[in-house]
Formats: sequence, C-alpha cells, structure tokens
Amino acid sequence: TTTSRRPLVAGNWKMNGSAALAASLSQAVRAAAPAQVEVLLCPPFPYLAQVQAALVGSGVQLGAQDLAVAQDGAFTGEVSGAMLRDVGCGYVLVGHSERRTLYGETDAVVAEKFAAAQAQGLRPILCVGETLDEHEAGEAEAVVRRQLDAVLNKVGIAAFADAVVAYEPVWAIGTGLTATPAQAQTLHAVIRAHLADQDASVAAAVRLLYGGSVKADNAASLLAEKDIDGGLIGGASLDADSFLAICQAA
Ligand code: PGA
Repeated sequence: TTTSRRPLVAGNWKMNGSAALAASLSQAVRAAAPAQVEVLLCPPFPYLAQVQAALVGSGVQLGAQDLAVAQDGAFTGEVSGAMLRDVGCGYVLVGHSERRTLYGETDAVVAEKFAAAQAQGLRPILCVGETLDEHEAGEAEAVVRRQLDAVLNKVGIAAFADAVVAYEPVWAIGTGLTATPAQAQTLHAVIRAHLADQDASVAAAVRLLYGGSVKADNAASLLAEKDIDGGLIGGASLDADSFLAICQAA
C-alpha cells in the first residue's frame, strides 16, 4: 500500500461458523485489532446483530456478504441494504465470485447491487477477478475491465469515491494457490489505471484489496505492493490468530 490509503483487512466468513464462533472471533478481533488498519468482519446474516453488539465501541467495522437488489417487499429469502444498515453494517460485499458462479449473478446484477448498496448508505466492496480458464487464456485484464465497466456504466466513476474494489483471482480462492505479489500488483495496477482513465483523483484514493488464499505467512509480501491496500480474507479469517496476524502485516 501507500501511506495515503488506510489499509483495510476484511474477513469474509462465508457460510461458516456458529453463534459460539461468532462470539469468540469478534471478541478476539476486537481485543487485538491494530489501530493503524481498518478491520472489517463480514459474518453470515444471522450473526450480524450479535457481532455488531460485540464490536460496539471498538473501531472494528461490520459488513455483510451480499444484499438484495430490491429495497423491500415480497422477495422471500432476501435481505435488503436498509436492513443491513439497520443492524450496523457499514460495508457489503458485491459480486463475490461465489455469488457470480454459484448463484448466477451477472455483471448487470452486480452493478444493480452496487447501486442498491450505496442508495442505502453502505460502502460496496466490489469483487472482480478471472477464472482459471480465463487466466490461462490470458484474459485476466480484459475480464477485470469488463467487470468494472458494468458498474462504471451504471453508477459512474464518482461512486467509486465511496467504494472498495477487491481483486480476487477465482483460481486462488480457497485453493491454497495465491497470486504472486507481482501478479497481484499487475492486476491491481490495471484496475487503478482503468479507474484513472475516468478520474485520476478517485483512482488514487480508492482502496484495492487482494483476495485469494491470503494467509499469515504471505500477507506481508502481498500488502507491500504499492497498489494493494489490504486483503479480503476467507478461510484464514475463521481463525482469530491467523486473521490478526494478517491485520498486523497490513
Ligand atoms: P480464501 O477466500 O481466503 O479462503 O481464498 C477469499 C475470498 O473468497 O474472499
């Protein structure tokens, strides 16, 4: 990272845990989160209120993993951005690769969710990244630009002043394969340059996170890259010591 952007380390618990784990993780993170880093926990929906209560008065932030496009109404099973705000969320993940690949979220749906999040006062963390096939075909940069454009065309570059972008190569998520720091930096620079084509100052200020098998032992080298401003942590965020070590490395 560079000193002008405050590092952000987000834990994406995915569909893991229990009320007991939510209690122990939030307490451990709250007790030891380093002040120089913005730390964010994204538990499953049923534990949001509990984690919010456990984090009150600490600097640790709360976020959700997804939200509905619609604001309210007859949408059985959905959770709106307004509800997430109501239980204390400041952030929400949008377009995580698991939402895209397992639940059919298209670029257009992701753009609508980004807009819905901001309309409800949530900061979206827009997740982008290429699959293994796309990676091997040399299409990573084009895929990431396409995923960004879908959102840029809907909300405009100014909206990125209050958003975060996470670059997560799909082939590195949950696989133990991590992009090398140089590979990750290359794509982060592509993302920042693409945003800078529309507004240089927004691009210079926006935080870009790397995600995909970030662990305590590789975090420092990834986060030392100049355009990597933090991490989106899946598996390692379920272990308080690992997650806190990553926060310390940022
Ligand atoms: P991982 O997940 O750290 O388990 O690879 C990252 C993510 O999907 O956000």
